[in-house]
Amino acid sequence: DERIISADATPGETYDRALRPQTLDEFVGQPQAKGNLKVFIDAARGRGESLDHVLLFGPPGLGKTTLAQIVARELGVGFRATSGPILAKAGDLAAILTNLEPRDVLFIDEIHRLNPAVEEILYPAMEDHVLDLIIGEGPSARSVRIDLAPFTLVGATTRAGLLATPLRDRFGIPLRLEFYSPEELVKVILGAARKMGAAVAEDGAREIATRSRGTPRVAGRLLRRVRDFADTEGATSIDRLVAARALARLEVDEAGLDSLDRRFLEALIENYGGGPVGMDTLAAAIAEARDAVEDVIEPYLLQQGFIQRTPRGRMACARAYSHLGLAEPPRPPE
Ligand code: ADP
Repeated sequence: DERIISADATPGETYDRALRPQTLDEFVGQPQAKGNLKVFIDAARGRGESLDHVLLFGPPGLGKTTLAQIVARELGVGFRATSGPILAKAGDLAAILTNLEPRDVLFIDEIHRLNPAVEEILYPAMEDHVLDLIIGEGPSARSVRIDLAPFTLVGATTRAGLLATPLRDRFGIPLRLEFYSPEELVKVILGAARKMGAAVAEDGAREIATRSRGTPRVAGRLLRRVRDFADTEGATSIDRLVAARALARLEVDEAGLDSLDRRFLEALIENYGGGPVGMDTLAAAIAEARDAVEDVIEPYLLQQGFIQRTPRGRMACARAYSHLGLAEPPRPPE
């Protein structure tokens, strides 16, 4: 995925770690999730108990991993991270679970991609802090039960609907992360700029913020690329003009859309008369995987009112036509 505005982390993005906020107070935005977490963390700490299991859901790049780390830090416990696709066998998860210290946080990213055999041993672990393992094969096989230290599972997924209901039901604290407002992203950008030692003016930060698709990871990445352009230009500070010029060269438009988003909207409007059209058809029209379209293109276009979802498929809204400079066809009266 080569999109500059992609919300997915690319393998080289190790700086992510250095820029991550370390405390709940430093974590910008998400007032609802943050407020709830604060209460539950304080309560668990006060009782000396493990925090209930937390499910974080929302589009990529909104801070799920960051929040999971902050939860561990605020609880004063250890943090262990893995992901659904990495845990291939039940034994992989068992090895991690048996090594947890009491009240530790185990973070499982992409928890909707757990192998069913792994999911099965996760249920009793979450519920009763026990591990039921089958040892041996055939007639000599026997099941053993191992007690685990009480722990907190923090699961992350892009869409809660992707989770099997029994798994979803085992999370006592489900939290949805929302897209960030431009004001919140200005704070994220100025904070990251400070940590990077980059001189960014308020209006420069705002210019980047409004094109960052409500997503801190995108804001951070755009900031770094804009800074590269600014350095090459010999600009001493990243102000609105410097930022706008760089972003134009990166082909990220004023609404934060890139060529892929525009291709999606053009396909919807030009090939299918603005819809309604099914997602499979649309994804095929722009030669992208349906999953990728649903995770990284659609949520932002929906949230920004470029498209809408109807029972019969996706439809272009007035904003899509005006953004692309196209005339909206008259709609027949309903
Ligand atoms: P996710 O796990 O949801 O994909 P991450 O937690 O990896 O997202 O966050 C992506 C990047 O955005 C990280 O570099 C992180 O530092 C930054 N970030 C995310 N949320 C915030 C926030 N609320 N305040 C400041 N930076 C944030």
